[in-house]
Amino acid sequence: MLEKKFAFPVPKKHFMPSSQKRIALLGSTGSIGTQTLDIARLHKDKIAIEVLTAHSNADLLIAQAAEFMPNVVVIGNELLYDKVFAALDPLGIKVYSGEKSLASVVEMETVDLVLTALMGYAGLLPTIRAIKAGKDIALANKETLVVAGELIMKLATENNVSIIPVDSEHSAIFQCLVGEYHNKIEKIILTASGGPFRGKDRNFLSTVTKAQALKHPNWSMGAKITIDSASLMNKGLEVIEAKWLFDLKPSQIEVVVHPQSIVHSMIEFEDTSIKAQLGLPDMKIPIQYALFFPHRIKADFEKFSFLKYPTLTFEKPDTETFRNLNLAYQAMETGGNAACVLNAANEIAVSKFLNDEISFLQISDMIAHCMGKIAFIKQPNLEDYIHTDQATRAMAENMILR
Ligand code: NAD
Ligand code: MG
Repeated sequence: MLEKKFAFPVPKKHFMPSSQKRIALLGSTGSIGTQTLDIARLHKDKIAIEVLTAHSNADLLIAQAAEFMPNVVVIGNELLYDKVFAALDPLGIKVYSGEKSLASVVEMETVDLVLTALMGYAGLLPTIRAIKAGKDIALANKETLVVAGELIMKLATENNVSIIPVDSEHSAIFQCLVGEYHNKIEKIILTASGGPFRGKDRNFLSTVTKAQALKHPNWSMGAKITIDSASLMNKGLEVIEAKWLFDLKPSQIEVVVHPQSIVHSMIEFEDTSIKAQLGLPDMKIPIQYALFFPHRIKADFEKFSFLKYPTLTFEKPDTETFRNLNLAYQAMETGGNAACVLNAANEIAVSKFLNDEISFLQISDMIAHCMGKIAFIKQPNLEDYIHTDQATRAMAENMILR
């Protein structure tokens, strides 16, 4: 008997490695997007790219489309439509632009799986449309579950849709769960690298620059998630993502800092046994797992050797210095629209930090301020989330920090 509701995802159409899976890749020009295409390039017999979308890197989008020959591309920035159309229309590829097109292409009948590799809140509406159209989701865009996890998981259940995690920690948990469907999770342990400022104090952090914050020790990622990793907000967002994906209580989610990023996360079961998933820090591994789940496909990625990493270490996160992790736990415990506020304030704060408008420590100040001020909604619907996001962005944009 299942002790608690646990929606372990099983793909509806049991994809076998011999048949082709048709993918809509949202955010194809980013870090996850380009790595997804690196895998697709090696497995053209198993993966067909149906849709590619990007926000503003028209040149790369055009080159990707010319190589993978999707049915449709969407360029988010409408000013770039003419350029993309001129390049791809002669190849017979349909070209659209704007947010509305992004949300509707995921519904195409020829799409089996939508991989959400776009950045931030922009992932929410296309993901909702894809779920409502019955498409399985490979979810890299963690902000979707942070903003509206309750709504997304409810829609996924109603529409019999699988949400397969791409984020390395969640992929690790997901992989550890295989064969454990009937066993209760005591807790999960999410690992965090600690980022470039691990071990530093607030005095040091008060003067750090964006160039320092953008130097992640183990992972090469987009700018926003790299800053989130430096501020520990990435782990905060991941804690909330894990709550919704694996139906956990906040008290069942622990974070440990593991600077080598080899153990990608762990589950402790009721019998005190712990399962972990390990590997070198390479996003291609969880991306490939999500694309081919439940199958494992042979890969020639660099192999992990225990002898090259004789020391794997674990330590407590410093939540006094890095306030964002506690703010995320607070938002998760508050529930309702609190995590939507956290996410929107963080997106504005990170973009202001990247524009040299605020200091690194002011990122947390801005988030805490908005969390204290934006009206609480206990059971938000989609309109409430949209309104909360807009109101929080406006508040954060206009905040004057001393
Ligand atoms: P990135 O900045 O490198 O790429 C973002 C992609 O999204 C680009 O293709 C861009 O064109 C598109 N995009 C950005 N804003 C958009 C908008 N408003 N509308 C439509 N498209 C838009 O980001 P990334 O590092 O690849 O991360 C993508 C997502 O995956 C994020 O949610 C991130 O948290 C998550 N993730 C990334 C990694 C990683 O290693 N990079 C790991 C785990 C999870
Ligand atoms: Mg991660």
